[in-house]
Amino acid sequence: MELTRLTITKTHQGLKKKSFSATELCKTYLDRIDKKNKEIFAYLTICREKALKQAKEVDGLIAKKQKIPLLAGIPFAIKDNILVQDVKCTAGSKILQNYIAPYDATVIKKLKKQKAVILGKTNLDEFAMGSSCEYSAFGSTKNPHDIERVAGGSSGGSAAAVTSQLSLASLGSDTCGSIRLPASFCGLVGLKPTYGRVSRYGLIAMASSFDQIGPITKTVEDTKIVFNAIKGKDPLDSTSVESKVSSFKFQVSGLKIGVPREYFVAGMDEGVERLIKEAIKKFKDLGAKTEEISLPHTQYALSAYYLIMPSEVSANLARYDGIKYGMSATHAQDSKSKNLADVYGETRQKYLGEEVKRRIMLGTFALSAGYYEAYYLKAQRARTKIKQDFEKAFAKVDFILTPVSPSPAFKLEEKTQNPIQMYLTDIFAAGVNLAGLPAISIPCGRVGHLPVNFQIIGNAFEEDKILKAGMLFEKTYGAN
Ligand code: GLN
Repeated sequence: MELTRLTITKTHQGLKKKSFSATELCKTYLDRIDKKNKEIFAYLTICREKALKQAKEVDGLIAKKQKIPLLAGIPFAIKDNILVQDVKCTAGSKILQNYIAPYDATVIKKLKKQKAVILGKTNLDEFAMGSSCEYSAFGSTKNPHDIERVAGGSSGGSAAAVTSQLSLASLGSDTCGSIRLPASFCGLVGLKPTYGRVSRYGLIAMASSFDQIGPITKTVEDTKIVFNAIKGKDPLDSTSVESKVSSFKFQVSGLKIGVPREYFVAGMDEGVERLIKEAIKKFKDLGAKTEEISLPHTQYALSAYYLIMPSEVSANLARYDGIKYGMSATHAQDSKSKNLADVYGETRQKYLGEEVKRRIMLGTFALSAGYYEAYYLKAQRARTKIKQDFEKAFAKVDFILTPVSPSPAFKLEEKTQNPIQMYLTDIFAAGVNLAGLPAISIPCGRVGHLPVNFQIIGNAFEEDKILKAGMLFEKTYGAN
């Protein structure tokens, strides 16, 4: 039996039946990491000793015939913007290259409570800003399906780790597609939960009104298991909410799927378009009804996101000033700083990357007096309109099916010199984050050797419904 090919449920059963031990499982994954991580560069940090200790504890419970939780012994990879106590957390940035997390993020506490095994921390675009995992200060993650291509971003390391079987499941964060896009480029399932469904406590903030943590896994069922483990209100995150997970009676024949015409744009890869249309047809074959709908303000989504996000980024990243956290100009022997203001400036100049600086400047500009109304406020108005478009649509349909990205994984360095081209990758992701909705990214085929996913967008707090639809699709047409 190839241990690293099993799903969470199968691994759980194997552990319970003692077909293999948690330590054996953990070692198998660590061995693969030793062999493969150099090439793929999914992990930035590997928690070998800690992981083996966690696995041993699980074996102890099994030996004592205690009931083990579903995630006990399950090897996880965690995006390196989520704090794991006593482990380095860099957010892919030089400015945090020496930062050791002093506490666990709430999602990590929840995983640890279930005795999950944390194998390590995965690569990401610096502070989660990017769509290809090439803006990491430490190097690019490669797509395991084709190492000349990107894994997608920003949670590229988390996706590449699962695809190359260097972890069984992983956590990513999604501010504008960063779970759904790498899941698509790497042929996996990824869920961006409703804003507020999962605690952001211990997630290094990028744009706080968008950020959500979610799972990246091999199957929809695995995603559901991880999502159920991490969701819930947290007193440490006041934007998290308790909302009952509604359990839908699922009659596929009664389902109405909306297909928004604005999500089929000129310039989209023909192969991608064909696969998305096939996925729609497959739902039809299952008995669902499909209907063309309009989300008329979609054209403003990307611009609104790329104004509001940098505004929030410019505020959130002000804390990296060389005094409170991480690296400081004062550490450098050749520092020219003579006073506090110099230290701020020199630190940020030296340790923040180009893309991050670009966004801080854009955001500072958009928020500045005289421009606030013209940019930030206008973008917020567009955000409201986009949210209303979705509300109107969900009065008519159960969920909305769209592509995840206009193309499959692109070549390394294809877009790094052209920020606008990179931003355009997020065209189908932005609306979901602006409206705070849940969306799941699910494989539906390949263009050549490259995987392609579709996305199901659900109404707020209806993760259960999109997960069920996804599971039905997967059960009928197969995973990956
Ligand atoms: N591509 C998006 C951006 O660069 C990704 C953000 C995210 O989801 N973390 O802003």
